[in-house]
Amino acid sequence: MTFHDFTFHPRLLDGLDAMGFSKPTPIQEQAIPVILAKRDLIGCAQTGTGKTAAYVLPILNNIVGSEKRHLNTVIIAPTRELAQQIDQQIEGFSYFLGVSSIPIYGGGDGATWDQQKRAMEGGVDIIIATPGRLIAQIAMGTIKFDHLEHLVLDEADRMLDMGFYEDILRIIKELPAKRQTLFFSATMPPKIRALANKILQNPVEINIAISKPAEGILQQAYVVHNEQKEKLIDTLLKEKKFNSVLIFASTKENVKKLDRNLQRLGLNAKAIHSDLEQTEREHVLREFKNKQLTILIGTDVLSRGIDVEGIDLVINFDVPPDPEDYIHRIGRTARAATTGTAITFINEMDQRKFFRIESLIGKEVPKLALPAELGNGPVYNPEVRTHSHGASGKNKNSGNKKPFRSKRRPDQRPRS
Ligand code: AMP
Repeated sequence: MTFHDFTFHPRLLDGLDAMGFSKPTPIQEQAIPVILAKRDLIGCAQTGTGKTAAYVLPILNNIVGSEKRHLNTVIIAPTRELAQQIDQQIEGFSYFLGVSSIPIYGGGDGATWDQQKRAMEGGVDIIIATPGRLIAQIAMGTIKFDHLEHLVLDEADRMLDMGFYEDILRIIKELPAKRQTLFFSATMPPKIRALANKILQNPVEINIAISKPAEGILQQAYVVHNEQKEKLIDTLLKEKKFNSVLIFASTKENVKKLDRNLQRLGLNAKAIHSDLEQTEREHVLREFKNKQLTILIGTDVLSRGIDVEGIDLVINFDVPPDPEDYIHRIGRTARAATTGTAITFINEMDQRKFFRIESLIGKEVPKLALPAELGNGPVYNPEVRTHSHGASGKNKNSGNKKPFRSKRRPDQRPRS
């Protein structure tokens, strides 16, 4: 399935294409049709699953076709950081739509307060607010909710943990009863469910179960430049004895190149890829299963198919694009309650992707120091590493003027 399978506005699809979003994540696949059908929704999903886009995209689609623009949507989030991240995603997606948004949170200076106030007086489509600051703005009388169509509560469990229960109810009292409410929470304890029952009408419930890597896998990572990766494999495999090693690379070309170069380094390695005849593939796989072959190299296709006992090391030569693939890849080791090691190589461009994987598995993977003879690797700073290709961030949007700030270019991925 692709985003083009939804009945999205063509300009929203343009924004998605420009940002390189092609395939919806499971929560997006399930939630988008429900939200487009204007149903209330309970989404049990954590950060890293793509939950933000799951509600932002259908809301933007509804806003484009709606008469009721200002103020159309209120998104309530527990923290300033999350409010900013949601706003950044909205900016990216709405680049071609001319939909405006503003994050409203406390802790800024007087200028921020004035900017927020002006935005609301000028008629903004979407606000993303932390509960306390939203109540302050309501008290000032700056916000009119007459046109409100959507309310989103994001990370509801965290908001309750932070003591925002009463604040949320106070805010909801101000909103029109006829609205669409979307409620997201990573967990669903009874108190959260009671709140959901109170504020949602006949909701559809979606649960995204997260697969977790097996406990027996020791996960590690190295932050490396591309040109250091092969030497690192050589060093790791000569430093410690591994009997059965699976190496994943993202493309067939990388698999073939790695195959040639590792053999040149004298390692007992072979690759499997689609250019080989079926019989050749079977032969390589048999050698690997019999432990005559120590190192097998392949793409993600291998991660879902291969069932070999006794793999003691998995190397991710690059970071898989999809976090679920990471779990599948490393799951090839430590099968059936044995132990195994999974090592991921993270170059500059893959840092953000790896951060997303860590969010999904709910765990930080230790980044080990490179062996001294390899020299220094890049600095690890996933917060500033995106998939963008050096875009400047200047507003080159022509027709669709956003009233309050310049917008991110759609080829700059949002930070989360
Ligand atoms: P979230 O769970 O909403 O915090 O999203 C986690 C990260 O996944 C964000 O960096 C998004 O930009 C990214 N993301 C969400 N959906 C997709 C998708 N369909 N394709 C690629 N990246 C996505």
